[in-house]
Amino acid sequence: MDPLAHASIGLMAKPIVPKAPLWTLLAVTQVPDLLSFAFMAVGIENGATTHLDFEHGLQYLSPASIYWSHGLLACLIWSLAVTVVAYHFLRDRRISVILGLLVFSHWLLDFIVYPNMPVLFRDKPTIGIGLITSAPGLIAGIVLEVFLIAAGTAIYWIYRKRMSLQARG
Ligand SMILES: [Zn+2]
Repeated sequence: MDPLAHASIGLMAKPIVPKAPLWTLLAVTQVPDLLSFAFMAVGIENGATTHLDFEHGLQYLSPASIYWSHGLLACLIWSLAVTVVAYHFLRDRRISVILGLLVFSHWLLDFIVYPNMPVLFRDKPTIGIGLITSAPGLIAGIVLEVFLIAAGTAIYWIYRKRMSLQARG
């Protein structure tokens, strides 16, 4: 899914953990993609060859190998790792757990849109709703992304408004 749609989940989390720096909330939602870039750079992972059009949706010409960055088990471990590291630095249980959950939100959104999220530390089996692999699904996926970005922005904007009103007394 689009980085902006992932980041919008971070915006939605800000009112729950007002003390957490916004950049950390946004950054952790990108963890699986950042890991994927790194793993591809060193040859551990391979991206899929895909074709995208409005007639067929997203079609896979060759499969991806992304179980280190986007596997279900791997993402649970990355989420836990981020929680532990965040707690080490911040000593705040609530913020640390939310940061870990935000890492996992990336997997959930990708699971909705893609058909082939790995489960374990190997290419098969894969799971995924694969929303965008059909023409109507692709439209629904775009609507979902726009909705998430709009909702995230609105929630954050309302939060900032309320904070500045409180500061003014
Ligand atoms: Zn991803």
